[in-house]
Amino acid sequence: MAVFHTKESLRAELLQLRNKGRTIGLVPTMGALHKGHLSLVKEAAAQNNVVVVSIFVNPTQFDNKEDLNKYPRDLEADTKLLTSVVPDIIIFAPEVEEIYTGDVSSASFDFDGLEFRMEGRYRKGHFDGVGTIVKRLFEIVAPHNAYFGEKDYQQLQVIKTLVKKHQLPVQVHGCPIEREENGLAMSSRNERLTKEQRKEGGFIYRTLQTAKEKFGTESATEVREWVTEQFKRHPLFELEYMEIADADTLQTADVKTNNRKYRAFIAVYAGDVRLIDNIALN
Ligand code: AMP
Repeated sequence: MAVFHTKESLRAELLQLRNKGRTIGLVPTMGALHKGHLSLVKEAAAQNNVVVVSIFVNPTQFDNKEDLNKYPRDLEADTKLLTSVVPDIIIFAPEVEEIYTGDVSSASFDFDGLEFRMEGRYRKGHFDGVGTIVKRLFEIVAPHNAYFGEKDYQQLQVIKTLVKKHQLPVQVHGCPIEREENGLAMSSRNERLTKEQRKEGGFIYRTLQTAKEKFGTESATEVREWVTEQFKRHPLFELEYMEIADADTLQTADVKTNNRKYRAFIAVYAGDVRLIDNIALN
């Protein structure tokens, strides 16, 4: 295991490994790691000689200062967890200054409209922040492969678009959502839930599963209305949005078209903690 805090030291190490013909898999994270992150790390380890995990709470992708400040951070615990699955893992844990050198701002990206929908609509500038950090990490690490979770499905689509548009020499892989026993999608933010919220968190996934069943016979509008109604009745969770969209373009599914894949997306507040989840509908 090795931890690097600077671009230069990491680059030098990776250059040596690349010159020896080793393939490099990158897993970008914001730390506070859980089994969801580890599933990406395991996939990277299965497909590459070298696994790099970046741990960086990227300020430019937060539209909410409080969310940024409260974001859990524990490099020591993260390091332990990572070495338990990949003993010779390479960790890149830079400070903000190392990445943004004096100018903590995002570049502006065109993701073919993906950036204005759902998360982009409710978190202004979020995907410019994501594009900025992921592009910078790709430049620093120059990985052969990079791994992202379907938990952030819209982000995965945005990154595929980033790679295509900028012709970046990296293969992007999507990995399935890991869930807690009750179905709640694993998330670093789950640590901030109360015991009761976390216990009841399965409600979100159960609602998505029923939405999936209903989508077989009902229209997207009917399913959306049904979900909205379920959350109105729930004392712990407040629905921010529920969207049924084309799985590739993320355009709202007003009418179902044969041979298209659809997904349901949801953002929910439990107190001041914002949770997202999604499910394939067909
Ligand atoms: P984050 O640290 O939240 O930025 O997440 C880092 C990566 O882990 C992203 O690609 C996420 O989509 C992925 N990830 C987070 N939670 C999960 C999960 N429950 N299952 C699978 N992947 C996840």
